[in-house]
Amino acid sequence: MKGLLVIGVILGGTVSATAQYALSPLPPLTPTACEAGLAPLAQFQALPAIADTGECVAADVVLLSGIALPDRTKVAVVPPATLRCTMAAQLVRWVREDVFPAMQVMAGSAIRRLDELGSFDCRTQNHIPGARTSEHGLANAFDVGGFRLADGRVLALTDVKTAKTWREVLRGSACARFTTVLGPGSDAYHEEHIHLDLAERHNGYRICQWEVREPVVEAKPLELQSKQAVAKIGEPVPLPRPRPISAAEPVKLKSKNAARGSVE
Ligand SMILES: [Zn+2]
Repeated sequence: MKGLLVIGVILGGTVSATAQYALSPLPPLTPTACEAGLAPLAQFQALPAIADTGECVAADVVLLSGIALPDRTKVAVVPPATLRCTMAAQLVRWVREDVFPAMQVMAGSAIRRLDELGSFDCRTQNHIPGARTSEHGLANAFDVGGFRLADGRVLALTDVKTAKTWREVLRGSACARFTTVLGPGSDAYHEEHIHLDLAERHNGYRICQWEVREPVVEAKPLELQSKQAVAKIGEPVPLPRPRPISAAEPVKLKSKNAARGSVE
């Protein structure tokens, strides 16, 4: 560990979170039960346990770089994610069993890439000083940007231009798989990605806060609206066309009473 830190300082003074907290010298030689179960379904590498002196700890950690799909193609995880094996396995199941078949039906295309915007990071919740250790600090969280489809389309999960049905279906399956799902509408930190984790809470309490939004329809500027209103006020009011007098319909002369508005 000291060696890693020294190298980081020499190379520019910064050390990645993974290098700082990957303390154990070697990953375990024997695969854990989780890793053995994950092996046929994903491409990954076992990592040393995370054992910071503070609160960032995790055993059975893997670097997940690919997910094998049932049709024998692969989804690349870009960049590879540092996760405890149980979280990696749940992510793999979500992609294989929920996202892949749903996109086959809805988009008619396979998925090729999962865009990762955050995995292990030894920090507090939302980087707020004094807050609790984030599930990211326990290697128990994954931030999703979106998916790339085989036909080149991008499925950005927080982009209102992505089909609303697709986002709704993926929200439903994510909230069934993970105990915490945070996206737009949860707080200001989750407007542009979806946070997934497997935090354990009392009585199995779960959080599913992801508002699937509609595109915003732009209103006309107020100044323009008022100018148009003024122009209408100044215009002459068009009168109805006079009814043509038909030769077949003799003009009835009104009686004096009728002219005065009385009834004969
Ligand atoms: Zn997150």
